[in-house]
Formats: sequence, C-alpha cells, structure tokens
Amino acid sequence: MSEWEKLIPRPKSKFLRVKCPKCGNEQIIFSHAVNKVKCKVCGAELAEPSGGKAIIKGEIVSVLD
Ligand SMILES: [Zn+2]
Repeated sequence: MSEWEKLIPRPKSKFLRVKCPKCGNEQIIFSHAVNKVKCKVCGAELAEPSGGKAIIKGEIVSVLD
C-alpha cells in the first residue's frame, strides 16, 4: 500500500503534488497516470503506471481534489 492510500483510502482518482527526490521540484501528478511522469527540472522518474494507481516515486506533499 502506498503512502497516500493510507491517508486517503477512497479509490477516487486524485491529483497529487509530488516532490522530486533528486532536485526537490514540486510537480502535480495524476494519481492514475497511464504514462511515466518525469520531473520537469531534472528528468527523474516521479510516477510509473501500474494498471490502476500509478506508482509514485517521490514524496507526496499534498493531495488535491
Ligand atoms: Zn527533479
């Protein structure tokens, strides 16, 4: 179970503000991203599709409705 599932146990899709683990850039990512999401600043992978909820690789700073 990923970090944000513990915080928000509803199966609704969300937008997440994720902090890049490499450069600290914060970026908005769709929780059910179907494509890999890369950091706009350094190119590090921030999310990877998994068929449902994306696997978030950075730190989730906040969850947006
Ligand atoms: Zn980065």
